[in-house]
Order: sequence, then structure tokens, then C-alpha cells
Amino acid sequence: MPLQRFKPVSGSCKLCSGEIELQIKGNATNPTECPKCGQEIESCVNLTSPQPKILRKPSTSEAKSAGFQVLKRIGKGEYEKQ
Ligand SMILES: [Zn+2]
Repeated sequence: MPLQRFKPVSGSCKLCSGEIELQIKGNATNPTECPKCGQEIESCVNLTSPQPKILRKPSTSEAKSAGFQVLKRIGKGEYEKQ
């Protein structure tokens, strides 16, 4: 029986460290609650598929306005502030 991965909808869980592996039997429906903490969980299948859906990357200015420091890769292991 393959294990299926789930993660809390909130994104983090102290008890299961943000990821839960559960065994889903044949025709059983996916669990909706973490068996450890009772949080709402969702399947991670989409995240682990070979071709994950990539969300639009924020532009440099958007990242800056959000308070991130934007680094530009200039060489192997070298980064430059933009
Ligand atoms: Zn949990």
C-alpha cells in the first residue's frame, strides 16, 4: 500500500513537522485531519508531481517592496545585490 503525503493547510505543524505520511487503503477517502494534531490537512500530491505548477515569480521590485533583499547570481556561488 503506497504512502501518501499530506500537509497541514495552515502550512506548519509542531507535532508532525509540517508533513504527514499516511497509508490510504484502496477505496478509502483521503483523511482531512492530521491524526496527530487534528489540524486540517491536504494532499501533497500536487507538490511532489514531476511537473509542479510554478507560480509567477515576483519581480525584483515587488520583492524589494516586500522587504526582501534581491540577490543576482553573478557566478558560481557568487551573488550581487541588485
Ligand atoms: Zn499535525
